[in-house]
Order: sequence, then structure tokens, then C-alpha cells
Amino acid sequence: MPALWVKTLLQHAAVIAAGLFIGWIYGGAVWGLLTAITVLLGWHIYHLYILENWLRTDRPGPVPHGSGPWSQVVARINAVKQRGRRNRRAWLKLIKEIRASTKALPDGGIMLTGDLKIVRCNKAARQLLGLKKKRDRGTRIDNLIRHPDFVSYLETGTTKESVEIPAPGSSERWLSCRLVPYGMDQKLLLVRDITQSVAMERMRRDFVANASHELRSPLTVITGYLGAMAEDDTLPETWRAPVLDMNEQVERMGALIRDLLTLSKLESSESCPRDHRVKINAILEAARRDALMESSGPRRIELTINSHADILGEQTEIQSIVSNLVNNAVRYTPEDGSVTIGWHTDKKGGHLSVADTGIGIPADDIPRLTERFYRADSGRARQKGGTGLGLAIVKHALKRHDAELEINSEVGAGSEFVCHFPADRLAAS
Ligand code: ADP
Repeated sequence: MPALWVKTLLQHAAVIAAGLFIGWIYGGAVWGLLTAITVLLGWHIYHLYILENWLRTDRPGPVPHGSGPWSQVVARINAVKQRGRRNRRAWLKLIKEIRASTKALPDGGIMLTGDLKIVRCNKAARQLLGLKKKRDRGTRIDNLIRHPDFVSYLETGTTKESVEIPAPGSSERWLSCRLVPYGMDQKLLLVRDITQSVAMERMRRDFVANASHELRSPLTVITGYLGAMAEDDTLPETWRAPVLDMNEQVERMGALIRDLLTLSKLESSESCPRDHRVKINAILEAARRDALMESSGPRRIELTINSHADILGEQTEIQSIVSNLVNNAVRYTPEDGSVTIGWHTDKKGGHLSVADTGIGIPADDIPRLTERFYRADSGRARQKGGTGLGLAIVKHALKRHDAELEINSEVGAGSEFVCHFPADRLAAS
């Protein structure tokens, strides 16, 4: 037992013994004992009172003096209190620093509850979204930001990485919003000003569209003259081969410009309306007929149609998807190979597939195939006469139909391109 407690026990025993002794002298030992116990009790109550008073104020005032074991108890409590105060000061400093850093962030951050109510937001979020600190606390974020894309992004959760919307009250400024779940059931909404990159992207798109448009007229004139020269019997023999060569190159240039203009048009809007029924079966049959008429490529082109459902969307864009995929399949498959064009539906939606037994694509190239001008084997692809924009067009046209492209391929065995259309883009025939 620690010395302090031995000393305390001895002191208590001495007081009780003294009480008993004095009581015995005066002929009442029990009274003497009771008096000694009362004195000890009073002494403890007095110290408890002082301690409680000191604890209640919780201010860094003078530490009360105690005697006996109370001095030790008070010292221990004081040490714990001081440690607590030091920790609190450290926490407050940390919170202050976090607040200062979130305040300095150029990006907006909004803490939301599981049911999307605002808990806190930083200064940038208030400026970007026009929120008010006190007024909007506790309000659902989709009651304040009503843009349909933003609302549907919140509804579908985080299947899409982020959503781009015009800033509330301004059609000039653009914001990128990203919802990140954290903690038990909380969400963090990150908001970034992307006005500049949207403007740059628009400038790039406009430039390509304008340049392609401007190139079209002079090219039509050149194509006309070259076509006439190629058919002219009086053309000197030494000029015949160069003219035919030029004619071929000019035709390629024309195809390139057509594809660039198509791509610009597709990029200029996000989603296409659902008010037209596209008869996909008729498009696939026509694509098969056209492919069979090609002078080179596989002789076996099959059609497997298991559904009569139509697609709700844009006829020319669906035609462009099919022709690009079928043309590629024909172009990259030898004469003794085969191409299978398919259309089937299930509860997930409609699935349009073009499979071939051609040269196939290396696995490393597959993720990049839909980039503009990306070619798995650039020498061979150029020789085959493609513009390098076919799959980029397919990707954008599919995006406008809320559809996705899946590519499976094995070098030497063939490739399969599957377009997955969601069920709400289908209409029963
Ligand atoms: P291109 O006009 O060069 O065909 P695309 O965008 O249509 O451009 O295709 C991009 C690249 O993808 C092609 O250059 C080719 O390397 C590859 N590719 C596309 N379809 C097939 C296919 N069916 N078989 C093999 N490779 C293909």
C-alpha cells in the first residue's frame, strides 16, 4: 500500500483512538467515538465541497489546497484537467487550421447528410452556387440547385463520376459537381469552376467544325476538275496515273472532312430526343446488302435478329453507328472470314453486335480505339482507307442515345463490337 494511504489510515485511527480516550476520561467512550467520527466526516465533506466548487467553475483558477489524501486527489484531478485543456487547445487549433484551409480552397465543398441536407459549406461553394450560410443550412441541396442533370445525377448516386451544369443564375459559367460518400452515411459535394476548360473545348470544336466547313468548297472544286480529268480520253498517258492518285487522295480528304463535320455535330449536344422510332432491323438488312456489294472483304455476312423492337432516337446516327461498325468488320476481315450482325433485346435493353473473324486488335489498344485518329496498326489502317474517326463517331452517337460500346477482341481470332442500348430507348414494334 502506498505510504500516503498508510499515513492516512494511521491518522484516522489516531483521531478515533483520541476520541475514545477523551470520551472514556469523561465517562462516555461511545460519545467520544461518535464525536471523532463526526469530526472526520466533517473534514471530508469540507474537502468534497471545495473540490466540487473548483470542478464546477472549470476555469483555470487557483488549485484548492487540500490536506492528507485530498492534496493528492486534487493534484491528480488538476493534472487530468490540464491535459484535457491542452488537448482541447490542440483540437481547436487544428479545427481552425482546417477551416482556414477549406476557406482558402478555390473549389467548393459542401458537407451533406445521407438525405442530402446541407450541414456546412465553404466560402467557394457559397460563391459558386449562390448559397447562404444560415438560410440554407438544413435544406436539401436539390431544392436549391434544380438543374435536371444535377437532380438526376444525385438520384442515380455516383454511377457517373461527375456532372457538368451551368452555374445557378449564369449561363456563362460552368461547374463540375462530384458527390463523394464518406463517414457513416454522409456525402461531400465537390464543386469546381470549369468555365475556362468548357470555353476551350467549345473553341476547339468550333475551330474544327469551321475549318472543315471552309475546306469543303475548295475541295468540291478540286474533286470536280480531277474527276473530269480522270475521265478525259485526251489526257496525256504520263498524267493518267498521277491524276488517278490525286483523285483517290482528294476523295479521302472529302471523307475525312465529312467525318469531322459529323463528329462536331454529335459533340455539340449531349442527348438526342426520343420522339423518332428507328427501324433497326431495316438498317441492319441494308448494311448487310451494302457490305455484300463491296468488291473486297469476307463473302459470308450473316444476320441474326431476335427482336422486332425499334430504337428511340435519331435515324441518321443509328445508320452511322451500324455502317461504321460493319465497314470496319468488312475492312479488317479477309475474304475467307465471316461477319455476323446481330440485334437482340432482353430486360436490360437492346444489344446491337457486329462480330468478325478478322485480324483482331491487341488488348493494349482496345481502351484507346474510340479516340480520334487512334489506330491499332496505323500503317495497315491507313492503307485500308479509313479516316480514323469511325469509332469516335460511334462512341459519340451512342452517348447521345444513352448507350455504351463494348469491345472484345483477340489478335488473329476476330473482334466483336456490342452496343448496349438502355430499355427506355426501345419501343416494341
Ligand atoms: P479507321 O477509319 O482507321 O478504321 P476507326 O475509328 O473506325 O478508324 O477504327 C479505329 C481503329 O480500330 C482502326 O484503325 C483499327 O486499327 C481498329 N479496328 C476497328 N474495327 C476493327 C475490326 N473490326 N477489326 C480489327 N481492327 C479494328
